[in-house]
Amino acid sequence: MANLKIKEKSPLVNRNQLQCNNIIMKYVDIDKLDKLPGKRLDDGDTFRFQCLSNLDCFNLCCRNLNLFLYPYDVVRLKNKLNISSDEFLDKYVDVVLREASFFPEVLLHMSEGKEKTCPFLTELGCGVYPDRPDACRMFPLEQGAIYDAETKKVKAVYFFRPPDFCLGQHEKREWTTHTWKDDQNAVLYNKMTGSWAEVKRLFQADPWGSQGPDGQKAKMAFMATYNIDRFRDFMFNSSFLKRYKVKSALVKKIKKDDIQLMKFGFEWVKFFVWGITTKNIRPRK
Ligand code: SF4
Ligand code: SF4
Repeated sequence: MANLKIKEKSPLVNRNQLQCNNIIMKYVDIDKLDKLPGKRLDDGDTFRFQCLSNLDCFNLCCRNLNLFLYPYDVVRLKNKLNISSDEFLDKYVDVVLREASFFPEVLLHMSEGKEKTCPFLTELGCGVYPDRPDACRMFPLEQGAIYDAETKKVKAVYFFRPPDFCLGQHEKREWTTHTWKDDQNAVLYNKMTGSWAEVKRLFQADPWGSQGPDGQKAKMAFMATYNIDRFRDFMFNSSFLKRYKVKSALVKKIKKDDIQLMKFGFEWVKFFVWGITTKNIRPRK
């Protein structure tokens, strides 16, 4: 399994001017929404923006980032690069445990050079464009998440927050959050990030007890959500299917389909860590 190379110190401080793509799917306090930086966009609110390759800032936004990756981002990128999730995590990410957090964040590791460019940046722009992460699709919008206790659902909130150097904010083209998501093919990405946010929300409380957040149980939860090729191997080459009842039709799908496997991983973590059973997974008696 790719090591959980947890860094003790969060890199989410000392950001320099070029940083962008940040707080996506961070839980935000509903009472402080209007105090957060950037313009909050409700349904129907508009913003003006257009990214053009002839602007002087071209590619400036793809360097020195705290670029959060979510499980679906990892699936898309590792498939794009035709490598396993293990290899992807080893080669391209930093796993960072923030203070007072019980599940690590996964950040794309920027190149070592002075410019700290994204490893996928080319002279012509993004080298993984059709599979670029959710944060890159949504830029210059940032997403936060609010938990609605009544509906028991996580809801996304959006902020227009381009960095000063981004000249696209002075263009005339107008968008709503919906038209922007459609244009950037971000609808599915947002949905998948939302599903992950539902699981991640549970980790606001400490589930690990004396094992701590880098114990064996935490490693299993990380594997089932981020290292899905390893999770598939674990499912099919251990006593997993003897211990858990999983419908045979779903087992067949999981064997071949990374998205089904990722979603199943989310459900399994809910059960394994929190004891929450769903229709898709139950322990055998
Ligand atoms: S307009 Fe903004 S998003 Fe586009 S290249 Fe420039 S900095 Fe990046
Ligand atoms: S993945 Fe692509 S769009 Fe995102 S930071 Fe890297 S080069 Fe830029």
